[in-house]
Amino acid sequence: AQARVPESDPTATALGYKEDASKVDAAKYKTYVKGNTCANCNFYKSSNANEGTCMALGNRLVAAKGWCSAWVKKA
Ligand code: SF4
Repeated sequence: AQARVPESDPTATALGYKEDASKVDAAKYKTYVKGNTCANCNFYKSSNANEGTCMALGNRLVAAKGWCSAWVKKA
């Protein structure tokens, strides 16, 4: 199976990506709003309940409960 994007990935790091949205540095990322996660982001395409692919990260797998600063509300 495809591996998830690690938080240490350069692009993921640049976007402040966390696999667990509750771990987001809210002081640094002021656009973060509790409840916003990859699962309700427009760039996300669900693979299963736990993960899906992210268009902003080259269609690689991210955690459903994750978040990054490129988050946009699912249309
Ligand atoms: Fe998650 Fe959206 Fe950021 Fe991709 S762009 S990592 S789906 S919040």
